[in-house]
Amino acid sequence: MATSTAGAGRIRPRRPETRTGLVRRARRINRTLAELYPDARCELDFENPFQLLVATVLSAQTTDTRVNRVSPALFAAFPAPEDMAAADPERIEAIIRPTGFYRAKAASLLGLAAALRDRFGGEVPGTLEELITLPGVGRKTANVVLGNAFGVPGITVDTHFGRLTRRWGWTDQTDPVKAEKEVGSLFPPKDWTMLSHRVIWHGRRVCHARRPACGACALAPMCPSYGEGPTDPETARSLLRDGPRA
Ligand code: SF4
Repeated sequence: MATSTAGAGRIRPRRPETRTGLVRRARRINRTLAELYPDARCELDFENPFQLLVATVLSAQTTDTRVNRVSPALFAAFPAPEDMAAADPERIEAIIRPTGFYRAKAASLLGLAAALRDRFGGEVPGTLEELITLPGVGRKTANVVLGNAFGVPGITVDTHFGRLTRRWGWTDQTDPVKAEKEVGSLFPPKDWTMLSHRVIWHGRRVCHARRPACGACALAPMCPSYGEGPTDPETARSLLRDGPRA
């Protein structure tokens, strides 16, 4: 159990954090992240909701950088859902191959494009309820599209977001829907989309799954998991990364 020193060498258990304390600490972390990552944004390149939806499907099990390398050719070949729905699967597979799982992803894109063409007049719908009816689109993808292409506040619980928010004690849920709800309750909705980007950026750059760079982390004073990774500054600095990897 965490302890704190008080008085003449006496050690007493730290008081459990109140709800108000948790909200304050969570918002302080968000403010610090905003200072650290003023450029935080969706790292997938896109120009319209359809492109973002496609890029998000492709980003499963790979890096945003890798998706951004193949997406210009894909978007040029198939600018609209109608074009993609009518495509030869092998042509899509050849373009997206570097993103991995290319056969399954090509099948998803074909199904997705056909659903957009047949059920939504070739337009990407702008509500969570409609988006999650599309094949291969779960809440995570839907929230990415809503937050970044439609300006509708959304929390994106990916692997980084889940890990970091549990490390910070914002939630202990491993179920993404429950985590989304619990974390969302700590912030006003207007903050949700940018919060998601910042947390994901910190997860990619500093607070890694296996060896978080605790000794080089600006959040250390606010983080109950400080010490989960190396605290020696030099070792920690060697773990820092610049950009998107996972
Ligand atoms: S102190 Fe360590 S565990 Fe906490 S946010 Fe920073 S890197 Fe992650």
